[in-house]
Amino acid sequence: MLDCAIIGGGPAGLTAGLYATRGGLKNVTLFEMGMPGGQITQSSEIENYPGYFEHGKTGMDFMDTWQEQCFHFGLKHEMKKVQKVQKADEHFVVTFENGESTLSRTVVVCTGSTPKRAGFKGENEFFGKGVSTCATCDGFFYKNRPVAVLGGGDTALEEAYYLSNICSEVFVIHRRDHFRAAPSTVDRAQRKENIHFVLESTVEEVMGDAMGVTGVKIKDKSGELSTLEVPGLFVFVGQNVNNDVLKTNDGSFICDVNEAGQVIVDLSMRTSLEGLFAAGDIRIEAPKQVVCAAGDGATAALGAISYIQEQA
Ligand code: FAD
Ligand code: NAP
Repeated sequence: MLDCAIIGGGPAGLTAGLYATRGGLKNVTLFEMGMPGGQITQSSEIENYPGYFEHGKTGMDFMDTWQEQCFHFGLKHEMKKVQKVQKADEHFVVTFENGESTLSRTVVVCTGSTPKRAGFKGENEFFGKGVSTCATCDGFFYKNRPVAVLGGGDTALEEAYYLSNICSEVFVIHRRDHFRAAPSTVDRAQRKENIHFVLESTVEEVMGDAMGVTGVKIKDKSGELSTLEVPGLFVFVGQNVNNDVLKTNDGSFICDVNEAGQVIVDLSMRTSLEGLFAAGDIRIEAPKQVVCAAGDGATAALGAISYIQEQA
């Protein structure tokens, strides 16, 4: 029986692992379906984590040392996709995609979020063939060529800026004339001469052929259609919370969630189900920042330690 099962190896999960093991729990395993690091490893740059301020460092570089530090204190890692978490008596059953399961006294769910699809025609058909949600992964394919970016949040404008250093031109398509992104991020993008804004407009369709994307059909606020001839479209329209592991067979949740599916927690990251904690982007009112996810992970681990001590 594990003392603590941590699901998801982003900033929240890794920090929960560090605090749980360094705080004295013996059997703590992090279940991460891919490489630990989380969504920040897709970022081209991180400059708002306190103490880490070196331009040109990617999210991947940034997360590299986190794993080393956590595993040093005894955190175990298994590359497994968790399918569901159930409570049975005083413990939890964590079931994996392959049907195997393990028991744990406490569970910290840190499964974060994944990019949303915008829903325009051709998006799924050309996903991975010109439509992308990762500029650091795919930007280089469009070196010295024009690309389009959809969205007006921090991710869209930061990644547009990153792409503007690789691509000849970047067209940012946004449905409003105001941005959700931080003012300093908007300002930096607006000052870049090869970033062009296509505002109050939406993507109707992405067109292409067997070789991939050839253009994007755009509709402006008057309903007029135009075509942008670009081989790549980067979609940054927000994130969905990854809460599937908390669903029962009938689709209900094992703990309380809000209408957006975000897990309701208290200030100690406790969910409505005793022994179950949630941390990072998956929780209500998450500021969706690495520093906040890490803080949540630490809080949740300390909560798990206290819970186990109270049960003893
Ligand atoms: P995540 O980082 O989403 O990690 C969740 C992990 O859980 C993933 O590794 C996933 O593989 C795993 N997982 C999911 N489901 C399962 C399952 N069923 N079984 C096993 N594993 C599972 N924040 C900043 O502070 N500064 C920035 O500059 C910044 N830039 C960003 C740039 C981009 C492009 C993006 C996408 C985000 C950025 N963010 C930034 C936001 C930041 O990355 C997130 O707030 C943070 O990563 C959330 O951490 P998390 O641990 O909650 O979740
Ligand atoms: P976001 O803040 O939710 O922004 C999504 C953007 O996409 C919005 O501009 C939205 O338009 C637009 N949009 C949504 N659905 C659309 C659709 N179907 N078609 C066209 N446009 C659509 O998402 P995000 O930028 O990924 O950021 C997620 C969170 O991570 C935020 O809290 C953000 O602050 C954080 N983050 C922080 C940093 C940083 O701190 N440096 C970097 C990246 C992300 P509207 O504005 O009209 O709603």
